[in-house]
Order: sequence, then structure tokens, then C-alpha cells
Amino acid sequence: MINGLRNRLADSFSASELSALLALEGKEKEQLFEYAAEIKKREIGNKVYFRGLLEYANACSKDCYYCGIRKSNTGIQRYQMEKEEVLKAAQYAYENDFASLVIQSGERSDSRFVDQIEELLKDLKKIGNGTLGITLSCGEQTKETYQRWYAAGAHRYLLRIEASNEKLYHRIHPQNDKHNFNKRIQSIYHLKEVGFQTGTGVMIGLPFQTLDDLANDLLFFKAMDIDMVGMGPYIEHQETPLYQYSSQILPLKDRLDLSLKMVALLRIIMPKINIAATTAMQTIDPQGREKAIAIGANVIMPNLTPLKYRDDYLLYNNKIGLDETFETQKKDLEANIQRIDHSIGYGEWGDSKHYKEKKRN
Ligand code: SAH
Ligand code: SF4
Repeated sequence: MINGLRNRLADSFSASELSALLALEGKEKEQLFEYAAEIKKREIGNKVYFRGLLEYANACSKDCYYCGIRKSNTGIQRYQMEKEEVLKAAQYAYENDFASLVIQSGERSDSRFVDQIEELLKDLKKIGNGTLGITLSCGEQTKETYQRWYAAGAHRYLLRIEASNEKLYHRIHPQNDKHNFNKRIQSIYHLKEVGFQTGTGVMIGLPFQTLDDLANDLLFFKAMDIDMVGMGPYIEHQETPLYQYSSQILPLKDRLDLSLKMVALLRIIMPKINIAATTAMQTIDPQGREKAIAIGANVIMPNLTPLKYRDDYLLYNNKIGLDETFETQKKDLEANIQRIDHSIGYGEWGDSKHYKEKKRN
């Protein structure tokens, strides 16, 4: 099966083939990983880009069944970072040559929040004469809001589809207009129309999810001609409705393994996009992110959120890094990346090559 891969065009994979590839184990799985690593080196080079992650605020108007900061979880304190704290972290990112920041938050679409993000973006753009790249991950918004945030200086946006199978999407979200599958897809189109480098992604190992679903997720990314993907293992949170299905899902290690196969296959079918090695991977295995980099991912998002807020941004159980600043992990991370024959693109935006080439055409 693997030998046949080498002569294949990236566009030629069917869902059933991808599904079979996701089931590979042992030697064949290792060969799949090797092939994905080879493609990455050839198409975009062995470089990793750092984006400093700020978990800006945890108030959320939604109630996704899997997420620890969902509206109905009253067991956490809701916070919003002070503007000064954001600017200080951004200055730190700039001084440490990160070149890019990711601002992530729960979903709020009230005008106060929309204005605050817009103001924040304008202030962030003053740091280093506008050289800091900014990614937003603040959920579904109107096209007009996306336009305002783009005009204020953000240039990338992450909005995971979470599950591209509509039926599965509805099983992991409440049935109401706030959690509407078509609206979420429409938002991804809006982001692209506005001009954002657009990222999406899914959770891997969800209850009710099959390998065919995951294969179709890969084809969804391709059909949407997406520029970046952030996907990672689903990890349960005990204060959420999906927790009751914990006995029906794969063990954590297998969820990580499946996530790595998803990354490798995505690199093969979309060779030039940016793919993140996510925190959920690192939560399952301290070397999870490096493993993902070695077989296809090329972006890492070290957490720059002030430590005092981290206990309240627990999307899932045992989320790592609650007492870890970038300072404490920098040396290890750099050494690990070197060990897998990669360099860090310090000071570079590291835009998706896929996006850049699309713009040129
Ligand atoms: N509110 C925004 C961004 C913050 S949530 C949004 O939903 O788009 C960021 C991501 O965290 C979500 O897209 C989801 O895929 C992930 N996430 C939430 N709960 C999770 C869990 N239990 N396990 C793994 N990932 C989770
Ligand atoms: Fe809110 Fe995002 Fe969590 Fe859903 S996944 S509850 S939108 S923070």
C-alpha cells in the first residue's frame, strides 16, 4: 500500500483510501510517516515557526459539549486579560523573535468585545513598527466584524470546523442556532473572502467518530482550499456532557497516534499548507509536538498567557503547562527541534506557502 503512495498525485486520494491509510500500524505506519517527512522537507523545508499564544479571555456564549470553558461550566472564574498584559506579552514575543502572536478566546460577538479586539489589534500593530504577525481565534463572527479585525491588522484566522460530518457536528453541539453547522462553514468562507490566511481543523478521537469521518475531514480541508490546519486529539473534560462517553473512546495514546497519522496524510495531500503541532498532543505525550513536527507539522504555539489565568482556560483535563513559561521550556524545545533535524524560523512570519502561491496566481 505504501509503495504505491510515491507515484500518487496529491489530488488523487479517495475517502476510502485515506480511511485505510489511517488504519495502518507497525512498519507500514512508519513508512507513511517517513514519506510525509520527505514531502515536507522537499516542499517547505525543515523549519518550525513559533507563534506566541495568548488565551485572551475565557467568557463564552456557546455550550459546545466537549469544552471545559463552555458557558454552562460555572466552576471556573471568567477572566479577560488586561490590555497592558497583552501588550507586555506581545513585546516579549517581539523581543524573542517570535514574529507572530495568536489571540484566542471564548466566543463573544457583542459590540463591546468586538470593539475591544479591534482596539487591541491597533495597539499591537504599534509594536516593532507593525512587524508582529497576528492570528485570531475568537470564533464565529459576522463578515463585517471579520473585515474590521482584518483592517485593524490581523491577517490569519483559525476557526476549526471541529467535525466536518454534519451529523457528528450535531452530536457534539447543542441543537440550536448558536451551534449551526452551515453557519460555521459560512464563517470559513467569509474569512477567506475578507482575505485572511484561513485555518480550520478538527478534534481527533471524538465519541461517535469513525475513520471514514476523519478521512472526509482531510478531504474537507482540501475542498475548502484551506491555508492552515490546527487539529489534535480530543481530550475529555469531566464538567462537560461528552464526558459520559469516555469509556467508548480510544485510549489517549491511540488518539495521539491517530492524530499523527492525520498530520502525515494531510502533509501528503496538501504539501504546502501550515500545520500546527497542538498543545493537546503535548498533553498526551511531552514529546507529542516534536513527534508531529518530525512527520509533517511546521508550527508550534508556545503559551505566553500569564500563569495566573491558565487554571481558568482548561479546555480539557490535564492540560499541560499550567506553571510553565516559555522561558523555562525554551532550551528544551530548541534542543528537541534540533534533534529532529529542524531549525526555528525566528523572526520570520512563516506564512503558509499555499496561501502565498494562491495569491500570486
Ligand atoms: N472559541 C473559539 C476558540 C477557542 S476554543 C472556537 O471555538 O473557535 C479552541 C479549540 O479548542 C476549539 O476549536 C476546539 O477544537 C478545541 N477544544 C475544545 N475543547 C477541547 C477538548 N475537550 N479536547 C480537545 N480540544 C478541545
Ligand atoms: Fe466556546 Fe470555543 Fe469552547 Fe465552544 S470550543 S465552548 S466556542 S471556547
